[in-house]
Amino acid sequence: MLRTNTRLPLVEPSQEGRPRTFKYFLGMLDSSGQESVIENLIVKLAGLPSIGRKTAQRLAYHLLSQESRSVLELAQALTEAKARVHGCPCCGNFTELDLCRICASDRRQKHLICVVEKPADILAFERSGTFTGVYHVLGGSISPLDGIGPDQLNFSGLWARTLGDRSGQARMGDEQALDNRVELILALNTNAEGEATATYIAQKLRGTPVKISRIARGIPMGSELEYIDELTVQRALEGRVQII
Ligand SMILES: [Zn+2]
Repeated sequence: MLRTNTRLPLVEPSQEGRPRTFKYFLGMLDSSGQESVIENLIVKLAGLPSIGRKTAQRLAYHLLSQESRSVLELAQALTEAKARVHGCPCCGNFTELDLCRICASDRRQKHLICVVEKPADILAFERSGTFTGVYHVLGGSISPLDGIGPDQLNFSGLWARTLGDRSGQARMGDEQALDNRVELILALNTNAEGEATATYIAQKLRGTPVKISRIARGIPMGSELEYIDELTVQRALEGRVQII
């Protein structure tokens, strides 16, 4: 237990004579070794997106003040989700089924493929409720500075989906083939990496029957799709611009 009522100096010199940082001050509250457990929890929580150090501390202390049962339920939910959820083999979306519900639905237009960077981006489009196509998750964007090239992303799956069924198109009449031409709608983040990824896809598919468009610029530059409201996403989708 934390002995928070113990009187402590605000800054205690360490053994080397230097003042201790807040991290060590927190550790001073308990000499049993528990402080490293709390610190570890805070560090793990602070590693989550959008969680700063202060929020992580608040969450850690909130969790520690809860009953054991509710904390265990949270831990079990995390473990179970991680164990059972995997990438859809077709589109890369998160699913606990063999195929995600979007790929499995016969009401979705399979030739209309919205290309996104991460599974969370799909939520932005699904919230708008107007997109009738399917998705493809790349798993990130091309970023040479971070050592992420095309080989690290799910491009092989994308080429298989866009170019894999050319023979099927050839068997159809010209008009029908045109109607069923695969269209990729690039819904990548509006930053340098998103631009590089879009350019790579356009170069790769130039000269093929695949149509490529990009969602319109209603999305502010540098923003993450995941956090855009559904109406803006819907307008951006409707106003998409054809590239090739
Ligand atoms: Zn899927």
